[in-house]
Amino acid sequence: MLEATLSGWKNWYSENRSEKYNIAYNIKETIDEDTVLVRLWISQDGKAPKNAKKYSNKVWIKKGVKPANGLVIVNATGESPLLLTTKNSFLLKVNSLTKPYLWRCRNCGQLLKSNSPIIHCSTNARQLAHISQETTNWFNSFIENIQWKYFPHSEISKGQIGVIEDEEINKIANEAGRDLENILNNATLKRPKFIELYNYKTRYLRVSDLKDYKKFQKVIVKIAGWRKSKPKPNRNAPMGMIEIGHAFDELLQQTFNSISSEEWGLGERVWFNCEELGVTVSGTPDISFRGIPIETKTIKMFPSETNDANQQEIFTYKWKTNYSKQVALYLQGSDREWMFLLIISRESGQFTLVPVNDVAINEMRNEWVKWISNEKYATKLDEYKKLIAEEE
Ligand SMILES: [Zn+2]
Repeated sequence: MLEATLSGWKNWYSENRSEKYNIAYNIKETIDEDTVLVRLWISQDGKAPKNAKKYSNKVWIKKGVKPANGLVIVNATGESPLLLTTKNSFLLKVNSLTKPYLWRCRNCGQLLKSNSPIIHCSTNARQLAHISQETTNWFNSFIENIQWKYFPHSEISKGQIGVIEDEEINKIANEAGRDLENILNNATLKRPKFIELYNYKTRYLRVSDLKDYKKFQKVIVKIAGWRKSKPKPNRNAPMGMIEIGHAFDELLQQTFNSISSEEWGLGERVWFNCEELGVTVSGTPDISFRGIPIETKTIKMFPSETNDANQQEIFTYKWKTNYSKQVALYLQGSDREWMFLLIISRESGQFTLVPVNDVAINEMRNEWVKWISNEKYATKLDEYKKLIAEEE
């Protein structure tokens, strides 16, 4: 069964999984017993039927209480959850790409057309997708109305991991923030035409794989296979919030690239040698101010911009599992003790700069030791390392 009313799904769940169940919602539309909901297949559901929609992102924001955006979840203790969404949900919309696919060289920036992945300037080119009409409309209205506004970080950073409270550093943050506000408000913003597509079939472990055990598990069991098989292009591009997020990154990158100022520069690639796992990963912060690296994160809105208490919870969760870890990893690859996180609200154009140190690395190191105490992953990791060694 791929589609049924809510009441139909309740019957299905009690017959197939558990008579005692809960339903958790995180969806904008109003739903009643007769609303038709579409099932989303997750890995625990086994092999998906041909026309089924698959879902491989985070399922819960808060386990058992708050599903990820767009989901209705029927769940019971000890049973796998049933993921549902409405027929109009952004989760069901994909932007199908047509041949020839579009690529961009990561080195020289040239746009390229090809039906299969290509190498340019001896690196793998990034695949691009034209942005959808919906997102185009979103940006047209965004660019027309946007007023960029810097605010000092203490309002939102209090109590978060790794945040530095230092008068001198806050002064630098304020100078950079006001300067950036000025630059952004005077820049001619060009609506992005493309987004970069994320290829989860990576050839190298990435910074993001070291931040999240679930992600690491998924990647490490497959990475040797990906290295041996022929790379394939993406056939679909994301839509909705995910697309807007990517397009926003593109807009910022374009704008940062065009800043001509002695104080501002582009980020420099950093390498981090993870001793616990015996691998090296690399990443590039987006920009720098007076040589201080800055990593940019865009969010839908700041917790301070809304009365919705969940937004605070989401923000703290992202900070702990993503932001503080990314900074900690980047700092290992530099000789600095702290750097800036630039956090931008896509809703309002408000932004702040937060000085963050690498204290999150300690917990990560403990986690990595645990990760490889699992024999399955240790073996897979060795296989990957061997392939890397052969390459060099
Ligand atoms: Zn090139």
